[in-house]
Amino acid sequence: MSEFTGKSVMVLGGSRGIGAAIVRHFVAAGAKVQFSYSGSPDAAAAVAAETGATAVKADSANRDELIAAVAAAGALDIMIINAGVAIMGDPLTLDPDAVDRLIDINVRAVYFAGVEAGRQMHDNGRIIIIGSVNGDRVPGPGFTAYAMSKSAVQGAARGLARDFGPRGITVNVVQPGPVDTDMNPAGGPMAPMMHGAMAIKRHAHADEVASMVLFLANPVAAMITGTTQTIDGGLGI
Ligand code: NDP
Repeated sequence: MSEFTGKSVMVLGGSRGIGAAIVRHFVAAGAKVQFSYSGSPDAAAAVAAETGATAVKADSANRDELIAAVAAAGALDIMIINAGVAIMGDPLTLDPDAVDRLIDINVRAVYFAGVEAGRQMHDNGRIIIIGSVNGDRVPGPGFTAYAMSKSAVQGAARGLARDFGPRGITVNVVQPGPVDTDMNPAGGPMAPMMHGAMAIKRHAHADEVASMVLFLANPVAAMITGTTQTIDGGLGI
């Protein structure tokens, strides 16, 4: 038995990377977990088969599909809004459609998923948004759209923390620095630049981010709300 035994958890974007690690950690702690995916059905099926969690196809860029999936999840105890995309490059030449899609997934979906989760959520529930240290710090050129999106979710967390606080629901942002996933491989071309700016000069493991998420979801974290919790190896100090 753990504090998560039987708790109802939804992870948006659980097919790969940090989201898949969060699914694994909650399942291991005894929670009933469902997770969304969009573009990676095979990876989603593999995570579901491995963990016993339920995979739900829902594109975070599609507002109606997203809201329907969250509503169908019923009264959650814990909602993790992790699905996100990154595009980097010169804003003068970046594809505007790709920027729109990033804003849809990284910002608009966070708002609608957070609101919809809160609608039915049990008292003392948890909403945790995966932001980024780039919401606070931009270490070089090319980050504008992504950094803007990750700053925006800080405001969403503060607002929802006020809106749902009277029900004991906490809303926080976990802000990773470099994490070794498909989005940002530890062996990628940007890694030396990133490690150069860090006190601890390596990518984090997705399991390390998942551990912080489970701490915030734990009843002992009941008074932590509207905050940003950074886990970046010192990139932002
Ligand atoms: P990955 O690219 O490895 O995984 C992204 C996950 O999000 C996948 O499960 C993917 O599912 C899902 N996803 C993406 N778009 C959609 C969509 N439209 N609808 C539903 N699900 C979607 O990324 P990470 O695990 O690295 O990133 C997870 C979160 O962490 C993101 O919010 C990211 O911004 C943030 N982050 C990551 C850092 C890093 O260094 N890796 C650093 C700081 C923050 P599918 O493929 O099925 O669509």
